[in-house]
Amino acid sequence: MEAITHYLQQIDSNKRLNAFTEVYAKEAMDKALLLDEKRKRGEPLKKLHGIVIAIKDVICYKDHTVTAASKILSGFKTVYSATAVQRLLDEDAIIIGSCNCDEFAMGSTNENSVYGKVLNALDETKVPGGSSGGSAVAVQAGMCMLSLGSDTGGSVRQPADFCGIIGFKPSYGSISRYGLIAYASSFDQIGIFGNNVEDIALLLDVMGGPDDYDSTASPKPEHNSLSTIDKKYKIAYFEEALLHPSLDKEIKENILSLIDRLRSAGHKVEPVDFDLLDHVVPAYYVLTTAEASSNLSRYDGIRFGYRTEAPVQELTDLYKHTRSEGFGKEVQRRIMLGTFVLSAGFYDAYYSKAQQVRRLLVDKTKAIFNEFDAVIMPVSPSTAFEFGAHNDDPVEMYLADIYTVFANLTGIPGIALPMFKHSNGMPFGVQVMTNKQDDVTLLQLSRYLMEEQVHQ
Ligand code: GLN
Repeated sequence: MEAITHYLQQIDSNKRLNAFTEVYAKEAMDKALLLDEKRKRGEPLKKLHGIVIAIKDVICYKDHTVTAASKILSGFKTVYSATAVQRLLDEDAIIIGSCNCDEFAMGSTNENSVYGKVLNALDETKVPGGSSGGSAVAVQAGMCMLSLGSDTGGSVRQPADFCGIIGFKPSYGSISRYGLIAYASSFDQIGIFGNNVEDIALLLDVMGGPDDYDSTASPKPEHNSLSTIDKKYKIAYFEEALLHPSLDKEIKENILSLIDRLRSAGHKVEPVDFDLLDHVVPAYYVLTTAEASSNLSRYDGIRFGYRTEAPVQELTDLYKHTRSEGFGKEVQRRIMLGTFVLSAGFYDAYYSKAQQVRRLLVDKTKAIFNEFDAVIMPVSPSTAFEFGAHNDDPVEMYLADIYTVFANLTGIPGIALPMFKHSNGMPFGVQVMTNKQDDVTLLQLSRYLMEEQVHQ
């Protein structure tokens, strides 16, 4: 009870940050009371007894509104809970509210939201990152213990990086996508924000595993102990990534010095050639927009949420008006791009090519993890920037996803660990990735990295 009162107060005093689209205050208090009584009666407590969690507004929670921060879903109430949410509830977690984000999870700044932008609590003139900006700020500003986001191309890791917290994207399939509003289904994954690796591992353990409603959900690892193993890791890094002209100099230097410290601690850290780096962002934007153009075709004004009020004669006019009024600019741009790359005359030039790049990346990943336990990289080429900084040029904004989309293209898990502070005052971290379905090694290594000896 005390915990929930505390978080509700925090939410109230941080309203201007705009992290929440809805707060379930009454419900959360009622649930906390029930849990208190359960404890008093001496009943056995569940794994997440009273843990206060916020969820991104793209994840369904039965009888609650879910809008993907889009006008097209305004007022839409879902009739079922996402598997991930249901599993949290089954372990007695308290869902405190839903978090603001970029519309349909498309964006890197949380500026594309029908609810307006989210502010970075460390510097309110700066973006929190996106698309899960609200979920990141909810943890950053102490408005909940943990939160859920979704990561299709970096939307958990990049906002975590900009906000100075941990953001974890599990392997594709680790957590069921049932009840996650689809952006690009072969990339989407629910991710977790938190302040320490142990909490994140606990949440993954609760939410993960197969699900009858998602055929791509994979079995849980046999053991998931985080106990520190005295292991010397073999870690790869891509020289091309650290030499990339878009990368901030201080970020580069700090990652290089981390590499030195890891070497001094006895780990093998070696460069690996990665000549595909400049192809990852184009491949990502071709494939995800193609998938999005198909996924978002269901919002037609008939079945969900918003419907135009314009007088229409033909059914297609109803679709056109509804979709032109209901979708924001960035979502419309991506639907059009996706439709274009899938169109008969251009399919081979764009969609097939991008699929081929994806295949090469998957092969490359296999080769790397035959030799190494992990890969380290920056999370983003810069720290959190000012609002509006990249708004005139979408391509410039897309290119900033250069370090995060690799994990989604290949399905491997990735985590952003807050380790550094820039001389501009903003935090930034390092990204660590391991082989597909080796989330346990990733979390073990992350815990090690967050410990003092290699931490700055
Ligand atoms: N910035 C990426 C994009 O705009 C990431 C999105 C995401 O992971 N949901 O597509």
